[in-house]
Amino acid sequence: MIIGVLKESSPETRVSLVPEIVSALIKLNITVWVESNAGATAFFNDNAYVSAGAQIKDKEAIVNEASIILTIHADNVPANTKAETVIMGVYQPLFNPELMQTWADKGHVVFSLDTIPRTTRAQAMDVLSSQANIAGYKAVLIAALQYSRYFPMFMTAAGSIAPAKVLILGAGVAGLQAVATARRLGAVVEVFDTRPSVKEEVMSLGAKFVEVEGAADASKAGGYAVEQNEDFQRRQREKIHEHIKKSDIVITTAQIAGRKAPILIKTEMINDMRPGSVIVDIAASTGGNTDLTQDNKTILHNDVTIIGNSALASSMPSDASKLYGKNVLNFLKLIITKEGSLNLNFEDDIVKGTCIVNDGKIVNERIQGLLKPQPIKA
Ligand code: NAD
Repeated sequence: MIIGVLKESSPETRVSLVPEIVSALIKLNITVWVESNAGATAFFNDNAYVSAGAQIKDKEAIVNEASIILTIHADNVPANTKAETVIMGVYQPLFNPELMQTWADKGHVVFSLDTIPRTTRAQAMDVLSSQANIAGYKAVLIAALQYSRYFPMFMTAAGSIAPAKVLILGAGVAGLQAVATARRLGAVVEVFDTRPSVKEEVMSLGAKFVEVEGAADASKAGGYAVEQNEDFQRRQREKIHEHIKKSDIVITTAQIAGRKAPILIKTEMINDMRPGSVIVDIAASTGGNTDLTQDNKTILHNDVTIIGNSALASSMPSDASKLYGKNVLNFLKLIITKEGSLNLNFEDDIVKGTCIVNDGKIVNERIQGLLKPQPIKA
């Protein structure tokens, strides 16, 4: 069986497989074809892929011959991909149900790794986690670069410097890495999340957890957050308002799978922040956690810098690709036999949860629901 790796289009800098992962696939009796220059922006050149056992091919050859095509983004899947090809990447099917229907009509088999169940067994295949970890780390670093003061406390002959106060909204994978990174830089860190279960993790990283009572129970949402009612949102904003006035840096990471991100910071709260403060909003691509966030833009409002960036993993493409590729390899091991042929076992919850399209149909119930005609309200 041939697995084909396509080059992503700009601004994406990552690649689905790095040479180290190619070697592992070759040992599993797989032939790997890589589009010329696919790894260049992540600093893996064609020679490194050839040394690992891959063959460098053009896109047409890969589209015509590969049984599995790997592209990170949906818009990189070639329109002339053959009917029965398996395509695998991060396709955000909850935001793109019509595209999933188009792929079903074309007869592709689609695996979207961002829908993998959040279970212990799936952790090694969880691309959202591996990439969010990078986003949390990078968010703090870009905030520190933008900030006009120190992060750590200093006592010097020229005077004393107080440590930066960092507020982190959302303590999922990205938020917890942001806590750890800000602490390493010497900041004092406070954290909000709607899931009280993260309190202990936050405290073990040396940060303070700020609790707002009465959050909706998310324990049955498969590891994802759920939407909160109006009353909770209002009380949460009041509490954040209190804390944001004293914060220098705010990192916002709150997301709700398949929905617009919750607005946790209103303009009037930003107006009360100290001049020179910095907000990094990594929920920017789904609307952002502030009402001023603009995706892929940095704006200055009332002397507060607001950086909207949900693509921070791409700013560290070598390690991001290495970890993404390891996730892909672990997932491929579930659907490829020892002899190197495809075996889709839909009894396996990970295979089932990650498959969006098979047999000419959308097989994921949540996406099916999005395409059903909604009843007309009288
Ligand atoms: P995410 O990116 O979906 O959201 C980030 C954080 O924002 C979450 O912690 C969420 O609770 C929080 N949030 C949402 N709405 C909020 C609001 N109104 N106010 C404050 N915070 C809000 O989260 P994620 O990083 O994907 O992780 C979600 C959960 O899944 C975590 O419990 C994580 O530990 C778990 N997880 C499990 C696995 C696994 O077991 N395989 C893998 C990854 C994550």
